[in-house]
Amino acid sequence: MRGFDSVLVVDWSASGVRAPARPSKDAIWIGFVRAGTPQDPIYCRTRIEAEAHITRIIGDERTAGRRLLATFDFPFGYPKGVARRVTGGDNPLDLWDWLGARITDSQTGENNRFDVAEAMNAHFDGPGPFWGKTHRDRWPGVPYRKEGIAFDLIAEKRACDMVAKAASSCFQLCFPPTVGSQVLMGLPMLARLRRQEGVAIWPFEPHENAPIVLAEIWPGLIEPAVKSAMAQDQTTPIRDAVQVTILARALSRLSADQLSAMMTDLPEAAREEAWILGAGHGELLSKLAQNDAPPAPPPLRDDCFAMPAGVDWTPVDDALAALRAGLHPVVRPAHCAVPDACGRILAEGAMARRANPPTPNSAVDGYGFAHGSLPPGDPVLPLVAGRAAAGVPYDGKVPPGHAIRILTGAAVPVGVDTVILEEDTREGGGQIAFRAGMKRGANTREAGEDVHAGAEILPKGRALTPADLALMAATGIGKVDVFERLRVAVISTGDELVEAGGAADLGQIFDANRPMLLAQIRAWGMEALDMGRIPDDRAALRAALDDAAGRADVILTSGGASAGDEDHVSALLSEAGAMQQWRIALKPGRPLALGLWQGAPVFGLPGNPVAALVCTLIFARPALGLLAGAGWQEPQAFYMSAGFEKAKKPGRREYLRARIRDGRAEVFASEGSGRISGLSWAEGLVELPDAAATIRLGDPVRYIPFGSFAL
Ligand code: AMP
Ligand code: MG
Repeated sequence: MRGFDSVLVVDWSASGVRAPARPSKDAIWIGFVRAGTPQDPIYCRTRIEAEAHITRIIGDERTAGRRLLATFDFPFGYPKGVARRVTGGDNPLDLWDWLGARITDSQTGENNRFDVAEAMNAHFDGPGPFWGKTHRDRWPGVPYRKEGIAFDLIAEKRACDMVAKAASSCFQLCFPPTVGSQVLMGLPMLARLRRQEGVAIWPFEPHENAPIVLAEIWPGLIEPAVKSAMAQDQTTPIRDAVQVTILARALSRLSADQLSAMMTDLPEAAREEAWILGAGHGELLSKLAQNDAPPAPPPLRDDCFAMPAGVDWTPVDDALAALRAGLHPVVRPAHCAVPDACGRILAEGAMARRANPPTPNSAVDGYGFAHGSLPPGDPVLPLVAGRAAAGVPYDGKVPPGHAIRILTGAAVPVGVDTVILEEDTREGGGQIAFRAGMKRGANTREAGEDVHAGAEILPKGRALTPADLALMAATGIGKVDVFERLRVAVISTGDELVEAGGAADLGQIFDANRPMLLAQIRAWGMEALDMGRIPDDRAALRAALDDAAGRADVILTSGGASAGDEDHVSALLSEAGAMQQWRIALKPGRPLALGLWQGAPVFGLPGNPVAALVCTLIFARPALGLLAGAGWQEPQAFYMSAGFEKAKKPGRREYLRARIRDGRAEVFASEGSGRISGLSWAEGLVELPDAAATIRLGDPVRYIPFGSFAL
């Protein structure tokens, strides 16, 4: 699931009067984090005014291509069985519409909620379940007090209210907490918002790919954070304003993984009763509500793929510079245990918690002594009893002129500064003898000679290797801050494509790009999402892009990226507005279509597998590295002497499939870009410059091994 770019938190009210002009409590307050940036809380005097604000924000976020989580602090559903009694069915959304057709509201706040509650109560036997009213003598079908209502067939509280330990019941209409009235006055608004394009209701509707998701929250979950924020504020803040502000901030800081943990795997009851987002995760939300949690990265700008105007064919280096300038990390930090961290990217530099080695120790098996106490000539030293071994230090002091048995890795005992290799000594009669000429400190390692405690051993942005895990483990690090894995969706396009392994008719070809690109992404330590093959059909491709943008941070497509009739990738990206057709002066590779789809960057690669891989390695790789938090990575190239001859025309850079044999770079026999066998034959690329070049046998050429295209 893709995370949310923006978060809205609405503190609803059931008030029957218009709130004062001056911001005050017990009115409607809206907290908003737009694109990762907290906004001032919005104060609304009436529900009608609030609904207008919310409607506008939903529209704005949708237009900007930002994914919005809009949350409300009242129940989205009633305890099991209520919907059936009132509407005849179990669908809670039908009850929303039922209420929407009956509840009236006004600019003064005056409304008919008690009349509607009375009508609902008529569907149940005995008094209730709705109770509490402003006038003892009105609405005879609504009991004034709870006494006498049997909550036997219908529970007083929902399953999630029990989990969240919420004190309120959605049947209580009067006397604080008046949650019951808030639900009656809130659900009709939600029913209207739900009709807006792109809106899905959690947990009743599929929401993974929806650009706008409405969900229920309960501020009680972050009560400790609200309390401490109120205590720290020197002015007299309005509690509701503080609550929505910090709750919006906390929700915006949830990682995609954390959110998905909160939004999925709900109990069965949630299908009818709804669920409080974050119920059971109050501690995490409270922590995120405090100032020290990492903020979400800002979204990419609409013009992040802009190319210099007026250029016909963009040189490769200019295209790379434009990518580098326009992109930034889009992933959030997360914790990771060191043993699981290979291939992950550090979000913070790793600091040694301990020196390596932690104490002076022996590099060999042999005998230790004090260099200054050696007699002149070939020494013969008496051995002390005992020995020093790794993990079992010698706890006495070795007297001057004596030696001690010492093993590799053992801490050097007090009184020893030099170790002689066992093979260079003769032992017998409790003594050792060896030749003169030892250097002071020989065969010992100093404490911290490798790494000092507190030193930064690995920088932010580092893609961790197996060796890095050893280094971190050796210096006492058990857990690191890494970025969440970049999620990359892969889509193949073309009517002619069929799945490898199956049958293929005349004119059909097997989809070769998808397995190649998915594997390449995994090799980079990213999360690859297989979105399948899409025919050359605009609606189907649009749906696939929607789906991909909902689930991934980046989308790679292959095929359909030029400007022809069947080039729907570029057509759709142009339609969406944020698209650039990059005509890059490079062979192999035709135009690359780059754009944003609902905020997710799309790399529209050429369909031809050779061109698709070259464009992936040359352009997508550094761009993805940047998006993933690894910084901009230049591939390491080597100059090798050419094992081939070629005259190259000016005006574009060329990449030849190549490998090293007998110390020379040889290139694949055919440059034909349809020759997939050449990709497999090759072990790297020879890069020929933009200018004209004549390469003779033995001339130096730039060779980039495929291994250099790692992250
Ligand atoms: P296009 O860019 O869509 O015009 O495709 C260019 C060439 O690449 C055509 O010959 C396509 O059949 C071929 N092609 C496109 N996608 C794939 C794919 N996923 N696997 C293999 N060949 C492809
Ligand atoms: Mg095609």
